[in-house]
Amino acid sequence: LAKLRAGMEKTRQGFVTQLLENLGDDPLSEKSLEEIESLLLRADVGVESTDQSLDRLRKRMNEGVLDATEALGLLKQELREQLEKPLSNKGVFPLLAPDKNQLNIWLIVGVNGVGKTTTLGKLANLAVRSGYSCLVAAGDTFRAAAVQQLQVWAERSGVTVIANPSANADPAAVVFDAIGAARSKNIELLLVDTAGRLQTKHNLMEELAKVRRIIDRLAPEAKVESLLVLDASQGQNGLRQAMAFAAAAQLTGVVLTKLDGSARGGVALAVAAETGLPIRFIGAGEGIKDLRPFNSFEFVEALLA
Ligand code: GDP
Repeated sequence: LAKLRAGMEKTRQGFVTQLLENLGDDPLSEKSLEEIESLLLRADVGVESTDQSLDRLRKRMNEGVLDATEALGLLKQELREQLEKPLSNKGVFPLLAPDKNQLNIWLIVGVNGVGKTTTLGKLANLAVRSGYSCLVAAGDTFRAAAVQQLQVWAERSGVTVIANPSANADPAAVVFDAIGAARSKNIELLLVDTAGRLQTKHNLMEELAKVRRIIDRLAPEAKVESLLVLDASQGQNGLRQAMAFAAAAQLTGVVLTKLDGSARGGVALAVAAETGLPIRFIGAGEGIKDLRPFNSFEFVEALLA
């Protein structure tokens, strides 16, 4: 938690310190609500989530005097509830963990540069540390460098990468090989990297949909998750991308990267509100261990405390 807090320093600065300073010992006024509003918007929490938070505070204010401490408590509770809301969808578990003793396939999608390869490396490491057998499929056949980078990351955790050395190989073929290998090695978690070049957006989405179809057809017994990697430092700009990926890859969750060094960590709330997808993991650093399962309580404490 301390590390997450340190990582989110930039988002927090000028956020809660200001909030508390602004409130002081005085009861909350309409003016302090406006200040809270601009602080939330500046952290990129998004309009919908900000409005909901203010409504909650205003409602309580209309019932009687509201001081800074209570306001902060209410705000934390509201933000936590918003982050947890996607979890009320059917079949969604509070924490995302692969099921033991069966094949889980996690498709990792996102545009180039958001930290997809790094996240795959970190996930493989986390899986191995948590006692799962893990395999990686290098489905981004477009970037030879990405395959190499993936191999370097996976090697550090002793995880095998299934790749096709020929240039521009069909990602679906790589996934085909990887599912075969996963079965013969009793793999519990198969992580599938995918291409993220935006220039040819249409083909990209078609390619993703094809990979997804292949997985569903070849491994109907597998538990499939489709995680979108979003760069927190891009704030809400990433949300439009999210919608395009949602259709092609049947997204089930989000990994939010680069929370360290970004002043826009509040975007987690905009993601939950606008996509209805749960945030599953957060990345807050470039090291192999700088990825953790998302926990709304921890996150809100790091954002506001
Ligand atoms: P890809 O193109 O989406 O595969 O992105 P990469 O995994 O190659 O990452 C792009 C850059 O972002 C690299 O320099 C990574 O070290 C960096 N990066 C990835 N995740 C994080 C993170 O959580 N925090 C920080 N600070 N940098 C990150």
